[in-house]
Amino acid sequence: MRKPFIAGNWKMNMTHLEAIKFTQDFGYEFRNSKGCEVCLCPPFIALRSVKNIIDSDRIEVKLGAQNMHWEENGAYTGEVSPLMLSALGVEYVIIGHSERREYFFESNEVVNKKVKSAFKHNLKPIMCVGESLAIRESGRAEEFVLCQVDECLSGIEKKDIELLTIAYEPVWAIGTGKTATSGDANDMCSAIRRKIAKIYNPETADMVRIQYGGSVKPSNISELMSMSDIDGALVGGASIKLEDFTAILNF
Ligand code: PEP
Repeated sequence: MRKPFIAGNWKMNMTHLEAIKFTQDFGYEFRNSKGCEVCLCPPFIALRSVKNIIDSDRIEVKLGAQNMHWEENGAYTGEVSPLMLSALGVEYVIIGHSERREYFFESNEVVNKKVKSAFKHNLKPIMCVGESLAIRESGRAEEFVLCQVDECLSGIEKKDIELLTIAYEPVWAIGTGKTATSGDANDMCSAIRRKIAKIYNPETADMVRIQYGGSVKPSNISELMSMSDIDGALVGGASIKLEDFTAILNF
């Protein structure tokens, strides 16, 4: 049985002071009525402050980062390493978000290096895949997404895969207000699970959590969560609106 998993990707929003206030307010409002695993992914500069509040206020949430480099240290000005994230008590890390792929040219090869490095440092990756509108309209969405899964997971061991979360996020639905229909989203998540079964085995595929992401909001979360192969959500815009995010978590 896969535990539902909802993560909030704050993207490049909130100063560390705003992050402190938001996390305190969140801790006050949030009741984990659904037994769902919940993760907050603030910007790097707020990780430490958010972690302190999670610990001191005993908030039932995990901490995630939005990105990382694959090396432990070295001459990579401006980058943050998996070692640094582990030392801060970060548990999850989003890898290969479509905004990283689009604006920072992250290829499947880079995503693969980062996923491997995350596992090496005991971080659990939330690996993002998803097609553009042009690819969806050409009818090649499934082929494209399954190729991403294949290339991004190249050489990754079965024992690690069990700790992997995959976020299926159609690029055309991110931050646009357009959501994939729950049927279409579930079809893609099922196809991803079949692909994992083919690469590894059905038992492993059964353990991997697959989130949907793309304009998730209080009005569509229940239907998405009722689908057979959608195990949770990666939430962007709505995760920095306290009322919306807590409503999503009470789907
Ligand atoms: C995201 O950032 O992963 C995302 C899905 O954003 P939004 O919910 O705003 O579409």
